[in-house]
Amino acid sequence: MNTITHWIGGKPWQGGSARSGDVYDPATGQVAGRVDFADQSTVDEAVVAAREAFTSWRDASLAQRSNVMFAFRELLNARKGDLAAIVTAEHGKVLSDAAGEVQRALEAVEFACGIPHLLKGGFSENASTRVDVYSIQQPLGVVGVISPFNFPAMVPLWFVPNAIACGNAVVLKPSEKDPSAANFIAELFAEAGLPDGVLNVVHGDKVAVDRLLEHPDVKAVSFVGSTPIARYVYETGTRHGKRVQALGGAKNHMVVLPDADLDLAADAAVSAGFGSAGERCMAISVVVAVDPVGDELVSKIVDRIRGLHVGDGRRPGCEMGPLVTGAHRDRVLSYVDSGQVEGASLVVDGRQHAIDGAAEGFWLGPTLFDHVGTDMAIYRDEIFGPVLSVLRVATYDDALDVVNANPYGNGTAIFTNDGGAARRFQNEVEVGMVGVNVPIPVPVAYYSFGGWKDSLFGDSHAYGPEGVHFFTRTKVVTGRWLDPSHGGVNLGFPQNT
Ligand code: NAD
Repeated sequence: MNTITHWIGGKPWQGGSARSGDVYDPATGQVAGRVDFADQSTVDEAVVAAREAFTSWRDASLAQRSNVMFAFRELLNARKGDLAAIVTAEHGKVLSDAAGEVQRALEAVEFACGIPHLLKGGFSENASTRVDVYSIQQPLGVVGVISPFNFPAMVPLWFVPNAIACGNAVVLKPSEKDPSAANFIAELFAEAGLPDGVLNVVHGDKVAVDRLLEHPDVKAVSFVGSTPIARYVYETGTRHGKRVQALGGAKNHMVVLPDADLDLAADAAVSAGFGSAGERCMAISVVVAVDPVGDELVSKIVDRIRGLHVGDGRRPGCEMGPLVTGAHRDRVLSYVDSGQVEGASLVVDGRQHAIDGAAEGFWLGPTLFDHVGTDMAIYRDEIFGPVLSVLRVATYDDALDVVNANPYGNGTAIFTNDGGAARRFQNEVEVGMVGVNVPIPVPVAYYSFGGWKDSLFGDSHAYGPEGVHFFTRTKVVTGRWLDPSHGGVNLGFPQNT
């Protein structure tokens, strides 16, 4: 049995652990490993290691920091297949999808390689006569990163490279459901020359998270997960005086206008609805079909669903894997029941889909509901599984009202060939990331990622320029080199002359 333990001070944790959790291979349903759960004292130990490392890492030159990032980028690129295999083994997503996750993570690392440029401050010569003003961006200290199960490589790497490159030390608490990717990342960083203690990994659950949120030496927390926990993390962390960005859940709508190419729209709905078994925060979970496209669009979506190859992500040709755990699969299944009870029409029942994998795996095939109402639980709740809902509306304005009335605001997309309609949508929709004929508009690494409304608590989006802003604080220096012209006592408020 594989035992997964913490990574503290540049090496695997040697202490014992009173609590641990099962880690499954979702495609077989078997327990593949056990992960140690940190108690408060283990988290404290990681924070001490990080605090000590911070005292010298904060003064490491920008050249040194970017050299580590470049070395890490090369190692990650060389080993990306290994990392993708780890992701597939514990998360279940198919290998090609895991490889895509690692590729997007690489882009975030590449952004951090440019940290010398990103940390340039401002300089104003002669703000007042022979008085210069300049700004410097300094690291915060020890920062916590708490990540969800659905992107065990990419989400940690949304934050860790920028945090470290900015001069901080990190304690990462990954999801306990697929913890091994975080350790792999920490080992690669050590190999890349990152000093011991700059990146630490503690595994576990609420106990570890709560300690990070309360610990006086943790200055900031980046969180990604479900909305109730994101709200809790934001409220608890800020109450303890920390800077917090907490990204939450989603219900992403894809609006299809009558002039759209329905074949391309159906391709996009199926790809974005069922990729990674719907376990993406940017997955499309609702198609809003504007009259009269409903019947034709649904029929095209059904055709495509029937051809999907669902099974063990390690097997060639599989396009969709299992759900992450048996408990999660059962929760998603309960929504298939509730959709039927509430009167939506179950057009494709994923329970009947052929599976290319072990019978004990955590399977549910792609499921499609039509004629879904906004009052139904399958519409209101984030299901986070392969269940796609189709809502039918009469006009563009009705579609916009549906999207804007939803409490989530992570991602959305509009499918149309009408540039004016697309432009109106991007202007009027209350969602943080918008796709125009792009169903999963995850911003590239040099923009920033974040939703609106209940999909983000705090005011900083993840990675990109806002990530650098989040992990630094600005100091403004006003200075002069004294000469006789500065003489004389003056008790008035300083004026620019
Ligand atoms: P989750 O909220 O259950 O867990 C996220 C993290 O919080 C994990 O590290 C977990 O150990 C910890 N946690 C869980 N319960 C906790 C509690 N009671 N107190 C303190 N910490 C707790 O989320 P998940 O199931 O791992 O991930 C799926 C969710 O993440 C979905 O809602 C998805 O939309 C969301 N997500 C959002 C984004 C985004 O960018 N907005 C990205 C990926 C995932």
